[in-house]
Amino acid sequence: MLDKVLIANRGEIALRILRACKELGIKTVAAHSTADRNLKHVLLADESICIGNAPASESYLNIPRIIAAAEVTNAIAIHPGYGFLSENADFAEAVEKSGFVFIGPTADTINMMGDKVAAIAAMRKAGVPCVPGSDGPLGDDMEKNRAIAKRIGYPMIVKAAGGGGGRGMRVVRSEDELENAISATKQEAGAAFNNDVVYMEKFLENPRHVEIQVLADGQGNAIHLGERDCSMQRRHQKVVEEAPAPGISQQMRDKIGERCRRACIEINYRGAGTFEFLYENGEFYFIEMNTRIQVEHPVTEMVTGVDLIKEQLRIAAGQPLSIEQEQIRLRGHAIECRINAEDPDTFIPSPGKIEMFHAPGGLGVRWESHIYSGYTVPPYYDSMIGKLITFGESRDEAIARMRHALKELVVDGIKTNIPLQLRIMDDENFFNGGTNIHYLEKKLEKEK
Ligand code: ADP
Repeated sequence: MLDKVLIANRGEIALRILRACKELGIKTVAAHSTADRNLKHVLLADESICIGNAPASESYLNIPRIIAAAEVTNAIAIHPGYGFLSENADFAEAVEKSGFVFIGPTADTINMMGDKVAAIAAMRKAGVPCVPGSDGPLGDDMEKNRAIAKRIGYPMIVKAAGGGGGRGMRVVRSEDELENAISATKQEAGAAFNNDVVYMEKFLENPRHVEIQVLADGQGNAIHLGERDCSMQRRHQKVVEEAPAPGISQQMRDKIGERCRRACIEINYRGAGTFEFLYENGEFYFIEMNTRIQVEHPVTEMVTGVDLIKEQLRIAAGQPLSIEQEQIRLRGHAIECRINAEDPDTFIPSPGKIEMFHAPGGLGVRWESHIYSGYTVPPYYDSMIGKLITFGESRDEAIARMRHALKELVVDGIKTNIPLQLRIMDDENFFNGGTNIHYLEKKLEKEK
């Protein structure tokens, strides 16, 4: 096993990684910013090291500082968590070049998946269903582009190959908008992502977001762990996630899961990963692959019984996968509500001191969070302060547990989105299952 792991992240995921390390007998180093001296995992780690000032650019995004921290603490491996440098190929390369293990895929894989045109090409080749599109970058020849658009059919969407975070895309509803949309997206992408390559895809009007979790060891073995539905979103940010996805049969799961599993073997994938799909009218359409652990990983853990972070650590230690596909059996239903320090109506972040905190509990209730009474939420980072996960033998039971767990959870002193999450849990359409990615924004608009 890895002797010592440096955790290059903060908040709940840093604590989650620390717990997995402790269970496996791995020593931990918490690399933190000046604003994060009092984080729970910093206090619980075997060692901690300050890597810079509060702004992420000076700490959690500062590659030389993180490498230096690993050097002085004699860490063997670095876990990037999610966000920050977790999908940065330069970081993965720097980590490995400096002689440490990067807990994730190779820099080449991250690079390939970071370029959506390359990712789609690789997935198509591996037999993963993709959105009908231009199958490559768009050139300057507008005649050709018009012909491609006509073949795809309107509405379609122009997307930046290097895009991320829901930026760098434009929906085009008719041919007269096409030329402007391409040049505007190109310009925006060049400025924002330093890469002005754009491509076209059919625009799906009312899809759901359904994603497949995979694990692969880079030694020829891969498994899928079923799907998650993350359609409850606001501004492309997931708000509620669940596993399994309502209405997906075991046969559909086996089929799409097997495609993802085989794609992992084809590209010699290593680590945990997620294939993101838009799902409409019974069909899956690949949009991108995330080459890291995701915020919503616990719902998969609850229904499969597999500890995904421990598997990441084992894979990084060079061990072959310890689980085979046949051993993955889904049981029950899990729901996750992201708890954010923000105004539940205006969504304006609400950092500050937590005067009083009470965690919810009981059978089937899991609370993943670093907060405590007296903890001050700093203004510098993402506003998520915890994740509440409930498990039930049925979806109805998981929802019922979530309702009372949300009511039990007390976070006083700052504003949180708990009231919004309660409204979602009480929503009739959510209760019925299968709402699409526009549902929450439309609901919020209506209830204004
Ligand atoms: P990013 O990397 O910026 O998150 P994605 O390709 O994952 O970009 O797309 C982000 C979101 O944009 C999707 O979750 C979906 O809501 C919307 N989107 C992307 N492609 C399409 C499409 N072809 N049809 C409809 N919506 C799309």
